Amino acid sequence: MNDFIKSIPKGVKLVAVSKTHSCEIIRQVYDNGFRIFGENKPQELVKKYNELPKDIEWHFIGHLQTNKVKYIAPFVELIHSVDSPKLLAEINKEAAKQNRTIKCLLQVHIAKEETKFGFTISELQKYLSTKEFLKYNFVNIVGIMGIATYTNDTIQIRNEFHSLRKIFDTLKETTFANNLDFCELSMGMSNDYKIAINEGSTIVRIGSLIFGERDYSIK
Ligand SMILES: *Cc1c(COP(=O)(O)O)cnc(C)c1O
Repeated sequence: MNDFIKSIPKGVKLVAVSKTHSCEIIRQVYDNGFRIFGENKPQELVKKYNELPKDIEWHFIGHLQTNKVKYIAPFVELIHSVDSPKLLAEINKEAAKQNRTIKCLLQVHIAKEETKFGFTISELQKYLSTKEFLKYNFVNIVGIMGIATYTNDTIQIRNEFHSLRKIFDTLKETTFANNLDFCELSMGMSNDYKIAINEGSTIVRIGSLIFGERDYSIK
């Protein structure tokens, strides 16, 4: 694991994706110095937030149903996976109730698979051109996120990350030119993080390389 950590450049944030793992296991990883953890189920995240040390920065990384935003709004640090205008509106509403600003990334669909959530590029352009997001005072859109196709074809993965990087650069110069916080590009998981970093990722989301393989059968 040390070699792996050394391979992550200083400027790249590492999110330890702890979904499915117990608080005991997460605590061990915490004791090794990790402070940013990522989860993809609201209830599981709340339980872990309550049980684990309060200096952990919790990131939400999966598809988030609007009716569950309220559970994580009091404490979540960054939501990587804003995939609809409706969800952003709901996050703003719940953040307002907590009187806090929630940082968000817009998830862009870059993979070949149909199942991955996110705005398509044209949906994103259309949505951003409405400027609707500007009226939300309790969300701060600090960047974008994407998941590459699950494949061994590294050229395809690289192309997908490259296109996400291009979208990021364009948005930074145009729509978000006035937001100095817009600087995060969340891409890269255990099997493709090196390619992602090469293509300009600023946040990698790593599960299995830190925790080992997930076992979804035990609860
Ligand atoms: C599970 C998950 C990860 C981590 O996956 P690994 O392959 O275990 O590194 C990263 N991002 C998202 C969105 C995930 O759901």
